[in-house]
Amino acid sequence: MGPANEPSFRDSVDIMFNRAVALMDLPPGLEEKIRVCNATYTVRFGVRLRGQIQTFTGYRSVHSEHMEPVKGGIRFSMAVNQDEVEALAALMTYKCALVEAPFGGSKGGLCVDPREYDENELEMITRRFAYELIKRDMINPAQNVPAPDMGTGEREMAWIADQYKRMNTTDINGVACVTGKPTHAGGIQGRTEATGRGVQYALHAFFRDKEGMKKAGFKSGLDGKRVIVQGLGNVGFHAAKFLSEEDGCKIIGIIERDGGIYDEKGLDVEGVREWISKHDGVATYPNGTHETDGAKLLEADCDILIPAALEGVIHKGNAAGVKAQLIIEAANGPVTAGADEILRDKGVVIIPDMYANAGGVTVSYFEWVKNLSHIRFGRMQRRQEETRHQLVVDELERLSADSGIGWQLSPNFKEKYLRGAGELELVRSGLDDTMQSAYQSMATVWHGRDDNVDLRTAAYLVAIEKVAASYRAKGL
Ligand code: GLU
Repeated sequence: MGPANEPSFRDSVDIMFNRAVALMDLPPGLEEKIRVCNATYTVRFGVRLRGQIQTFTGYRSVHSEHMEPVKGGIRFSMAVNQDEVEALAALMTYKCALVEAPFGGSKGGLCVDPREYDENELEMITRRFAYELIKRDMINPAQNVPAPDMGTGEREMAWIADQYKRMNTTDINGVACVTGKPTHAGGIQGRTEATGRGVQYALHAFFRDKEGMKKAGFKSGLDGKRVIVQGLGNVGFHAAKFLSEEDGCKIIGIIERDGGIYDEKGLDVEGVREWISKHDGVATYPNGTHETDGAKLLEADCDILIPAALEGVIHKGNAAGVKAQLIIEAANGPVTAGADEILRDKGVVIIPDMYANAGGVTVSYFEWVKNLSHIRFGRMQRRQEETRHQLVVDELERLSADSGIGWQLSPNFKEKYLRGAGELELVRSGLDDTMQSAYQSMATVWHGRDDNVDLRTAAYLVAIEKVAASYRAKGL
């Protein structure tokens, strides 16, 4: 964590918000209405574990209800506290607005170290926490829809969905009470890797933006870029995997809880992930050089830095040492307000969290819609699409034969063209489209104003304007 004179995470979010609203002309009162967190519910509940009652503290915070349901993950971590949950809920409001997911912002957290408990115990804890939230409508398909976050995944979401169904047996839309579920329990394909995929699509969008590349000092595209990733959890792993396997990036550094590893030739992302799951860390990983103080790698030489773990890891104490030209915030709030200022002065471009990690909530939105429509995307049109494509292929082949030219369609083309889009293809296409349009809306502000705003401020300006418009339309 950063030096003691840093503002808290929530203050950091407020500082960044204030910087943006100072450039806007919002009616008095509306600015305050948007900034404040509407409500935070704190619950303390007991679970009988290992022969005694253990008490847990959890939160669900609702930042803005300009649209409902409100949306945001539930994290399981010992670092969870009210301040953090409220900051994260605020970020959810802006994130959803920016990518046009029709939700208000919310976040939940439970003070627990999931590694301390076995699966059975975790199920009891999760169900009990869910029970407390469900009975107060703080989990509800129409009102408040959680999702995975740090320390939780599809397993926990399936328990929550089941708990809701048990308590609301006649709610036909019950399964939409939470997203990020396994596909066999109402989930959607592509959700697990959605945030990492979104980071990749965000970088594609950035490297298509000539003006943005110039601001970061890049002359060429993603291919060959040297990348350092902090945190090889769900988000960091998928982002690193896709960038190295599909875009020609070299993952030269990986930072984990127990240190960092570095290899200028590029690390094998899958291999490192496997190693971590077997050995609980990277310290004994056989390849590359090791750094016991992993945070030092945040300051190592690279082109792109991807903080994909905790908030506040780039702070006033290390920001000046960052060598990357581009930081993409795969985590929520990894750069403090103090560090943000130092990095801006250095000319480092930061692709802000509210955009960079919005892939998760975007695909959550698709899952929620799928659950409410009770049908898998593509189920009605896929075969029909394939039949129509087959008609075109048959016709082309007939024309070629009849005219005697003897053109042959390449088998690759045929296979690709004939296959109608299934759920995964549609999810990817929807995510890519969302990331491209949201980038466009930020970039228009980023490059279009004459006051030289940074990309984060541009993102806030777009998001706040959308929230404000929604409040105005309601007559508030
Ligand atoms: N926890 C994720 C986030 O911070 C996903 C939220 C969601 O899907 O609702 O964006």
